[in-house]
Amino acid sequence: MRLYFDNNATTPVAPDVLAAMLPFFSERFGNPSSVHGLGDDAADALRAARSAVARLLDARSPKEIVFTSGGTESINTAIHSAVALNPDRRTIVTSAVEHSAVRAPLAELETRGWRIVRAGVDADGRIDRAAIEAAITSDCALVALMLANNETGVISDLDGIGERCRSVGALMHVDAVQAAGKVRIDVARIGADFVSISAHKFHGPKGVGALWVRDGITCPPLLRGGSQENSVRPGTENVTGIIGLGQAAESARAFAQDDAARARVAGLRDRLERGILDQVSGARANGAGAPRTFNTTNIAFEGLEAEAMLGLFSSQELYASAGSACHAKARKPSHVLTAMGLDADQAASCVRFSLARHTTEAEVEQALGIVVESVAALRALA
Ligand code: PLP
Repeated sequence: MRLYFDNNATTPVAPDVLAAMLPFFSERFGNPSSVHGLGDDAADALRAARSAVARLLDARSPKEIVFTSGGTESINTAIHSAVALNPDRRTIVTSAVEHSAVRAPLAELETRGWRIVRAGVDADGRIDRAAIEAAITSDCALVALMLANNETGVISDLDGIGERCRSVGALMHVDAVQAAGKVRIDVARIGADFVSISAHKFHGPKGVGALWVRDGITCPPLLRGGSQENSVRPGTENVTGIIGLGQAAESARAFAQDDAARARVAGLRDRLERGILDQVSGARANGAGAPRTFNTTNIAFEGLEAEAMLGLFSSQELYASAGSACHAKARKPSHVLTAMGLDADQAASCVRFSLARHTTEAEVEQALGIVVESVAALRALA
């Protein structure tokens, strides 16, 4: 049996999502811009998907939703827009634990003269709110913070930060890529100006996402072309992908509001975490003292290398991850874990297990057995 515990990297497309998409590859193949029945059919389907995404985010209007190619594009569009809309400001406030989709564009702006304030986190990965609030001044163009961390699942307390941004005229972007479908997202309550999500993190297809843009803000486009997506994102729409995103958004919204369903998965995550901590000496859960998404546990295995563990897990069809997928291939210590105070060796010993809404107790028990035996085998070799 394949044991997939890497759902923060990507999730399988849900059967209802695939079923919703399929007709748009074949008989319902119209271009939403075409002025005929087939085009109208695609345009109607796009409208329904936009409404579903707006509902997932508790947005005021579907008009606030811009479809994109995923989290990375949504985030880059928001950062590009905030900087262009606040041309006289030179400070951007962020945290030390953001995803590379935020880190890289900000690092690039830094080379062009922007001052980037990267607030630290405590040992459990909670962002330093005091440092963030102190840096939100009249020179601040943008505050860019994540709602849920991809490596640890730690949920940021963002309450009031949007209000503070507004009081000085700064814009706020929230990376909700790991939060969508796990944490209830209410864009009005967060008080942000931009929110990014990505379908493949909640059982939709890869390569499609959305950017919520507060009503009244006009984003300067990254690409130039036609007038699709209000000219913010020109180019013929990825209709099948967007239909999948819409369908996935419906289910994600239902799941995020279903306390019992979330508690079931949280219980399984806790069972896996507790089982490892009890049975593996020197194991420690990162971020366990902070509020976390219900599906994620990130565990340090003292003296071991995540890479060796993942290889042994994979040979038994247990799939997990060392930090985020891109770090896993880049072989750099995770910036998230080092920001939490782990040294390079400790960070290299960490494995992330991320469950899905369909994960079963039997899968957790099997995974736990494989982890305990594999660690024992690796320690015996050493
Ligand atoms: N932000 C976070 C927190 C993520 O976890 C990811 C994906 O891993 C992204 C952004 C990028 O999203 P995408 O893969 O859709 O470009």
